[in-house]
Amino acid sequence: MDEKKLLHELEKIMKKHRNGKYKCSFAGCDEYSIKSHVFQKNGILKNIAEKQHVSQFASKSLFNNDESSRFEIRKVGINDVYTFPGFCKKHDSEIFSFIEDKEIDFSNRKTHALFAYRAICQEIYRKRASLNFASEILISPDFSHEFKLLFADLCMGSQHGIKNLEFFKGQLEKEIDGNPTHFTFDFVEFDKIDVCISAPLNIYDQQNPLTYTHDDNLNILNEIYVTSIVNTFPYNDKSYYLIATNKDYECKWTLEKFQLFKSNDQKFRLKVISDLLSTRFEFWCISPKLQRKLGSQKISELCKIWQSEVLNFDDNIDVDFNLFESC
Ligand SMILES: [Zn+2]
Repeated sequence: MDEKKLLHELEKIMKKHRNGKYKCSFAGCDEYSIKSHVFQKNGILKNIAEKQHVSQFASKSLFNNDESSRFEIRKVGINDVYTFPGFCKKHDSEIFSFIEDKEIDFSNRKTHALFAYRAICQEIYRKRASLNFASEILISPDFSHEFKLLFADLCMGSQHGIKNLEFFKGQLEKEIDGNPTHFTFDFVEFDKIDVCISAPLNIYDQQNPLTYTHDDNLNILNEIYVTSIVNTFPYNDKSYYLIATNKDYECKWTLEKFQLFKSNDQKFRLKVISDLLSTRFEFWCISPKLQRKLGSQKISELCKIWQSEVLNFDDNIDVDFNLFESC
């Protein structure tokens, strides 16, 4: 198969699984899911949108020839920003009504459990889509043995990731039902910046054997690794930074960053967010207004840093870059 045909096949298989049908994420529900939003449309996205569009960080098509930049920020309609086949119609509206249909109550554990839960469910879906994609390549007669080997790791990694995330998902379902678990939630209110992030995070901490390690250590398939969940978004006239961690699998990196975030000024906080966007998270969007303010030079620098650090989960990444220098 020539390279162009190979890329075409890969993109086709990937799209098939990303756009595939998935069952509702809620425990015990057997219905098929509808298009669920990671960030809520009302109250969050609508407030930063221009003509119903926001600016979303995304990877370019495999056919993009520019090796130096595989990522970009593109305008996406608010009906499509970070959507995923998450929940059936009933659960999508019932479970999240608590944070979507009234003022968000940040003092309530359930609020935090719901934001964390939706981020985890979205990541599980992404890992499922990757697993299905890699599995199809592994059994297809169209690809060479050598080529297939490249996907065996993705298969194992996705399987392990799903198992790990399912554990935390189960705990959060208990929280949503009103049964406290070992999850701890905290948040900071700070000066408004039009940035939305929502995702779980695995950091490799050399001091902590329970953190994510490299995939070559595959006897770890049954173990649970430290995962924290970060959400940040503007709401009314402020921004909020939420963290969720489980006491039994505490992420020291997240907690330390959070304490620094809490005790420092806005300038410091923006540098933390800049570091998160350039080295830790691929699920985020900003307002078109903020995109213009940042300028194309800063954004292209950010995309380059992201590309070089995308597989780096170490706790000590230090980048000499601040996306918000001019803010
Ligand atoms: Zn359901």
